[in-house]
This record gives sequence, C-alpha cells and structure tokens, in this order.
Amino acid sequence: MASFSVVAMQASPSKNFDEKLAATQALLRKALKDHVKITQASSLGAEDVVITHLLEAIKAEATNANFSADVFVLNTGKLHAETLSLMAKQQSTSPLMVRVFEPVQEQAIQFVKTNGEMAMRESVDLRMACCHIRKVEPLKRALQGYTAWITGMRREQSAARADVPAVDTSDSVRTKYNPLTDWTWGDVLHYIVTHHVPYNTLIDQFYPSIGCEPCTRAISLGEDFRAGRWWWEDKEGENAKECGLHVKEKQ
Ligand code: SF4
Repeated sequence: MASFSVVAMQASPSKNFDEKLAATQALLRKALKDHVKITQASSLGAEDVVITHLLEAIKAEATNANFSADVFVLNTGKLHAETLSLMAKQQSTSPLMVRVFEPVQEQAIQFVKTNGEMAMRESVDLRMACCHIRKVEPLKRALQGYTAWITGMRREQSAARADVPAVDTSDSVRTKYNPLTDWTWGDVLHYIVTHHVPYNTLIDQFYPSIGCEPCTRAISLGEDFRAGRWWWEDKEGENAKECGLHVKEKQ
C-alpha cells in the first residue's frame, strides 16, 4: 500500500450507512436467489472490490449451497500494472471464480496498425471503435449465457449516472443490478477500510475511476469522479465518460 492513503483519508460513512449496507446485501441475496446464472462486472475499482467482497461473504454463509455467482474482468490489454496486479491477486485468492476476457488479438493488432497506438485521442469515433474491440465485444462474450449481471455504478459518479436504477430491467435479455446506486464515495471507502478489502492502489494516486492507462488520469480536488476518463473529449456528448458498456444500444 502507498504510504499516503487516500482511501483512509476519504473513508467517511453516511449517517444511514448501515441501512444502505443492509439494503445492498438484501438486493444481492435476492438477485442470487432469482438468477442461477449471474455474474459481476469488475474493473477492479473501489466499488467493484466492495461488491466482490459482499458476494464472497454471502458465499461463505453456510445456507447458500446454491451460490453460483462469479466475477469477470475485461483485460483490454491497456490496463495499468496496479490493476493487473490486483486482478492476479483476486484470481488466486478469491473464493469466487474470476473470469478474464481479452479482445480478439487480430482485431486489436489490426486497429493499432491502421490507426496508430494513440488513435483514441484523435476522435470520438476512433475511441469508441477501440472501446468496441477491447471492451464491448469481450463484454458480450462475458455475458453470454447469463440472465443477470451486477455492476458498481453509483448515481454520484456523474450526471450521466444520476438516474441509474438499482435494478435495471430495460434489457429484455438480462437484468442489471446496481446495488451501490445510493452509496457515496465515502461509504465505499469506509467499507474497504472497515473490512480490510484489498484495493487498487491507483485510488491512492487519485484515480477514483479505474480504466485503461491511455484513457484515465488522476483527478484534482473538486473534479467529478469520472473527470479523469477520456478527459480530452466533449463533456456533454452522448457518449461522454462512457465506453459503451453501459450505453443502451439503439433499437
Ligand atoms: S478506454 Fe481507451 S484504451 Fe481502453 S478500450 Fe477504450 S479507447 Fe481503448
């Protein structure tokens, strides 16, 4: 761990944190009961390690013989060393299966050959094309056969996420559970500190949102949580601060 800990400094539970935690645990238990094929999407950010830890605790309950949830990570080939290190640690220590999905190598290589290593900085279209190859297509494979997935989206993270529901049934194929919607950043870090959850040390370098190395920077005091993602792009655009994983496809 870094000697200076943003996590310890910013851990600060809401007054009703215990109620929020109980509601989150209840929602996860219900999701696990309602879906045999359910998986957690993890970018190994603060919210994700909290959810994985909560799932591990539920799995440890003796009565949950039918527990079947797992976790998946999209290893885009562009992740920070800190993220890869935590991913390897989770794979070797978590009682949950941690599945890792990578882009189709030929597509990723061809994209770089045609457009250059830093094409994502040149236009939103090229950035979205890179995200499609490295994230969206692998996501489809990760979700194949699952009737539900769990994410760490919180309403506080950005204007685009201000209305995120705890249970999103807008996709007829798959339910999306967002059990931390009303948690604050202080709540998330409080859980990590209280339960000694291993976390991504990038957070101590002021990266509250974890993404690919070329597309994520540290944020300054007062900036939005996702200000460090694709910071060179138009903040108001349709795809602002999103990579396509949570953007609904047009009918
Ligand atoms: S976040 Fe950046 S590097 Fe990662 S897939 Fe998207 S454009 Fe490519």
